[in-house]
Amino acid sequence: MIIGILGLQGDVAEHITYLCLQGIVARVIKKPHELEGIEGLIIPGGESTTISKLLVSSGLLQPIKALIDEGLPVWGTCAGVILLSQEGLLESAPVKATRNAYGAQIHSFIGHGKIAGKITPMVFIRAPKIEWLSPDVEVLSTLDGNIVAARHKNILLTAFHPELTKDCTILDIFLEMIAAQKSKSKSSQIQNTRLQANAL
Ligand code: GLN
Repeated sequence: MIIGILGLQGDVAEHITYLCLQGIVARVIKKPHELEGIEGLIIPGGESTTISKLLVSSGLLQPIKALIDEGLPVWGTCAGVILLSQEGLLESAPVKATRNAYGAQIHSFIGHGKIAGKITPMVFIRAPKIEWLSPDVEVLSTLDGNIVAARHKNILLTAFHPELTKDCTILDIFLEMIAAQKSKSKSSQIQNTRLQANAL
């Protein structure tokens, strides 16, 4: 399995290490042709304004949007949440996120919240807050009343940085989403083959 990490700016290296420690092959994506064959994509934390500009200049914006529409599992962390939100450049998830909602860099903190019934360390660095979400978005975790992890169809959002910890709770959720997408496309392939065979 190859997971792409958008490698335009931000904590790309930390995501590579995080995946490699779990034996997952990571591919840094800087150009459109590098998207070929990936089964999931991570939009890392960083500076959402810079990543937005580079998404346009690299020619990656439209191909990534198309892959998301086709069902590619995508996980946005921190700045990635802003980009994937409905007012972000990728406009993929029906959520509204406010940038730097916990304060400046100096207000970075590590919290502990529950995901899938497990207490998980959560690193917040000038993190966004998800202030609004459509009713069909699944809230995966809250901390002190703030939504910090959510999922909408093939999109996973975390306001915090799991890649800066050794905790794999969210990664496991993302891997499950990839596995579900894989079996979905396999069964539609089988169905297509059957339809073609019946037409003969
Ligand atoms: N505050 C940054 C932004 O708005 C995100 C910070 C992060 O990704 N850690 O782009």
